[in-house]
Amino acid sequence: MKLFLRPRNSNSGVLAFDLDNTLYNNPGYIAFQEESQLSRLASFLGTELEQARQMVQEKKAQRGRDGLPPTSLATIFREFGISQQQIVAWRNSELRPSDWLSRDPKLRHSIILLATQYRLALLTNNPHKVAEESLQALGVDDLFQTIIALDDVGFSKPHRAHFDKLMEAFGGQPEDYFVIGDRFDIDIKPALDAGMSGILVDEVGDIYLLPDLLLEGRSSGDLPNSL
Ligand SMILES: [Mg+2]
Repeated sequence: MKLFLRPRNSNSGVLAFDLDNTLYNNPGYIAFQEESQLSRLASFLGTELEQARQMVQEKKAQRGRDGLPPTSLATIFREFGISQQQIVAWRNSELRPSDWLSRDPKLRHSIILLATQYRLALLTNNPHKVAEESLQALGVDDLFQTIIALDDVGFSKPHRAHFDKLMEAFGGQPEDYFVIGDRFDIDIKPALDAGMSGILVDEVGDIYLLPDLLLEGRSSGDLPNSL
């Protein structure tokens, strides 16, 4: 876990969580998500799966050569002429979160504690329906005030639309916001650019530690005011 914290006045505000690889660990499901989308891309382009995979790899490599940071799979798909609406439809038809995710009592315990002091949002590059079903499967859907998903903003993170919509939902100052996610370029960098704090996590085990880090009067001592 890495903290990117801005100075702030109080131990309260908004916590905005990424979903995949942040609120759960499930390498099989993550691989399935990518494979199922590549398979749809292959059909769309009239190619074999392996060829579609190579074309995506080449787009990613080209971004690197152009000096661009890593981006979302949806952004890469858009470069093949696939509409955002089509991407949302593919994900909605392929992804069944309840087949892959189950209730996580430790996650629920941590989120309940955090909710005593913070308002909670989910910020995801998956569609709204997939996000809702994922939170239900994990057993934490009643604890989040807002879901901001791919089809809610028409762009995927790292686009700033997610972060603008987040601030519209809760108001206040950017330094009152913590964005928590597993990818620096997708989740954390745009949050820092928007003036928010960021917490880069390695896995859901890091989420279990957040109450000790972020809540006033917890055992691990005071949170450093900034890094
Ligand atoms: Mg993620």
